[in-house]
Amino acid sequence: MSFLFPNYKRESIEMISGSGNYLTDRSGKKYLDFTSGIGVMNLGYNHPKLNNALMEQASLLWHTPNLYENHLQEEVAEKLANGKDYVAYFCNSGAEANEAAIKLARKATGKTKVITFLNSFHGRTYGAMSATGQTSIHAGFQPLVPDFTYLPFNDLAQFKQAVDSNTAAVMLEMIQGEGGVIPANKKWLKELAQCCHDKGILLIIDEIQTGIGRTGTLYAYEQYGIEPDILTLAKGLGNGIPVGAMLGKQELADTFSPGTHGSTFGGNKLAMSVANQVLEIVNTQNFLSAVQEKSQQLFSGLSLLAEEEDSGIQDIRGLGLMVGLQMESEEKLLQLMTKLKEQGLLTLRAGKNVLRLLPPLTIKKEEIDSALAILTNVLIGGPINE
Ligand SMILES: *Cc1c(COP(=O)(O)O)cnc(C)c1O
Repeated sequence: MSFLFPNYKRESIEMISGSGNYLTDRSGKKYLDFTSGIGVMNLGYNHPKLNNALMEQASLLWHTPNLYENHLQEEVAEKLANGKDYVAYFCNSGAEANEAAIKLARKATGKTKVITFLNSFHGRTYGAMSATGQTSIHAGFQPLVPDFTYLPFNDLAQFKQAVDSNTAAVMLEMIQGEGGVIPANKKWLKELAQCCHDKGILLIIDEIQTGIGRTGTLYAYEQYGIEPDILTLAKGLGNGIPVGAMLGKQELADTFSPGTHGSTFGGNKLAMSVANQVLEIVNTQNFLSAVQEKSQQLFSGLSLLAEEEDSGIQDIRGLGLMVGLQMESEEKLLQLMTKLKEQGLLTLRAGKNVLRLLPPLTIKKEEIDSALAILTNVLIGGPINE
């Protein structure tokens, strides 16, 4: 028997080591990782600079409470602001970052209603779960935190109708990740942001999955011509060391006055030393343009494959190195994922029938070619005939 709650559906493999963009399981089988541990290991495994940052800090000091100054938090916060007028609050996970965002928005506006979207995913704590627009995730946990309203994604008319004088904030993902790799529509988002601005509604962007270079820019919102009031981050920020962050516009800073919100571990020295190094590596022109180039390589390979009648690919969506392939059915998707795994390629699922690819941003061009070859082989039974 297992001494664990069965809340995760676990496959019967265990990874015991990782190097670069590959994982090795207990039996010694090697896998090319197109999951990044669900968007976490953006710089792959065993990265020497991250190892050094962690080891150095580990031999110096692990933790101090937030009763004292913390220059590492200041450094990471400045890097996250990236030249804009944001201040940061640090926590340990995505859900916690969203909790902070919801609390900040209600306190800053004195209003309670928060608009989110169907199919969204914002985390599993009460506030973050209540923000999540999926009834299957709420089931059995009612009553939820009150005053969340779920609207269809990319629908402006319904949004305008739902907004009222008690609306504190609207919260959304730039690309709905867990929900099926569904990108926000550019025009919709610009109009929504304008409407928020006009009515004093805070715009909260959840970039827990899309942030930290995943889409080819430090933040995905940069490609949409909008600017959030509040931004939440986690997954890729610590490359496997638990850390979350909420950024808020400078004018919201005083809302979180001393004693209003906090976290014992938030901004822990080990986490900050790694996050600092992650940002040092990711937020450079060279690194981000390489992500964009590799994205083009992956998308064009996938488009060629989708042109093959037998491939079963119904749609290709995403941005940067966050890609969704819509397959015909749930059954076909699960069969596909099993075969890919057998051939040494790890992939993820999103929504009901979407194959989600989240390779590390450090993925090499040859490794993208290998992944495309495996996918092609599994989907059409051999290479594409020229
Ligand atoms: C993963 C995820 C979360 C939740 O993060 P946790 O660290 O699991 O709490 C929230 N929002 C989005 C968009 C995510 O992808």
